[in-house]
Amino acid sequence: MMTDALLPVFQRAAMVFDHGEGAWLTTTEGERYLDFGAGIAVNALGYSHPYLIAALERQGRKLWHLSNVYRIPEGERLARRLTAACFADVAFFANSGAEANECAIKIARRHHAAAGRPERWRVLTFAGAFHGRTLATMAAGGNPKYLAGFGPAVDGFDQCPPEDMAAVRAAIGPETAAIMIEPVQGEGGIRPMSHAFLRDLRALCDEQGLLLILDEIQCGIGRTGQLFAHQAAGIAPDIMSLAKGLGGGFPIGACLATRHAAHGMVPGAHGSTFGGNPLAVAVANAVLDVVHDDGFLADVRRKGTLARGLIEDVAMRHPRVVVQVRGCGLMLGIKTTCPSTTLVEALRREARVLTIAAGDNVTRVLPPLVVSDAEIASFAERLDRTLVGLGDANVISDFNEVQESGAPGRTRTSKPCGGRF
Ligand SMILES: *Cc1c(COP(=O)(O)O)cnc(C)c1O
Repeated sequence: MMTDALLPVFQRAAMVFDHGEGAWLTTTEGERYLDFGAGIAVNALGYSHPYLIAALERQGRKLWHLSNVYRIPEGERLARRLTAACFADVAFFANSGAEANECAIKIARRHHAAAGRPERWRVLTFAGAFHGRTLATMAAGGNPKYLAGFGPAVDGFDQCPPEDMAAVRAAIGPETAAIMIEPVQGEGGIRPMSHAFLRDLRALCDEQGLLLILDEIQCGIGRTGQLFAHQAAGIAPDIMSLAKGLGGGFPIGACLATRHAAHGMVPGAHGSTFGGNPLAVAVANAVLDVVHDDGFLADVRRKGTLARGLIEDVAMRHPRVVVQVRGCGLMLGIKTTCPSTTLVEALRREARVLTIAAGDNVTRVLPPLVVSDAEIASFAERLDRTLVGLGDANVISDFNEVQESGAPGRTRTSKPCGGRF
């Protein structure tokens, strides 16, 4: 029985999960589901990872929470390790992705204000973006469905289409402080930005004195086969936000920045009660122990190629339903002619597979990074079986979005990650 004491903002599936192991979730009825959604890319190391359990238990017996008015050595260590692994010099810990983005936006605005350019405070974002559900990050994402009914959107965000440098140049004005983008759009439908576009944005930011903010909340922490997705493009941002996979299921967000970008952030400029508390940083350090390993990331790349190949094989057999397979590493998307919610529900009901619907009519495939080859093969088999079951009955022949970017009836495969599609 579902409780009506919860604010009804989520449409929840009816089954109740009791425990999990690796890529598998078990309901209170004892039914096992193959989880290729991983809590929306959060459970990077799957469920009940012994190393994470040990880290949580060890810290749980020592200290759960400590105010940020005291030193937290494990947090200092996490910050050193994250910054050593990328462009950044400093890190701020928050509890969620949206908060990490709020910090990123504040750093960018302060950067200019502290340098005597307070008029530069606007941030350029992109169509299809998702940056969170707080008032500011909702405005940054610009999705009219999320903004409706909440009063005027927080000011300070302009938006243009991705992969269009002429539009970006036209949208930049004397008030622009920063450009903010997901290297691979997640919620928007697993849309990887081309490496050329990311490099052009970097060059433009350098030319115009703007800060480049990368939202790697979903695509970071090994998801694409690199520790951070932008590393494949050979560029470095000035600011980057992380969350989701960082805590492997323990809520933690992080905002990383160069010292130069963050020069306006002095004591008192920002804060968080819970952010980076001892439990959160202990678990995040344990996640990093596993993920930040060349062998681990190479294996994610290998498994990503395997998964993509098998899903493309299935797609070939269902050309009327599957329009496109796209993504990088273990961040994959299946664009269909049937509503993505229909495929997600059919996979869950008919094949006991969990996936996540996204924008652009895409079904997200986000297995835990520890998924096995056999589980990937099992997913492909279940997907095939589900698509056979769906048949043509659910094909929406006049689905507008689908018509725009790929005619039904012909399976299109996007270029490998970083290419234009
Ligand atoms: C999930 C997500 C967010 C928001 O994270 P929350 O933890 O839900 O606040 C922001 N940006 C991207 C790219 C995300 O995928």
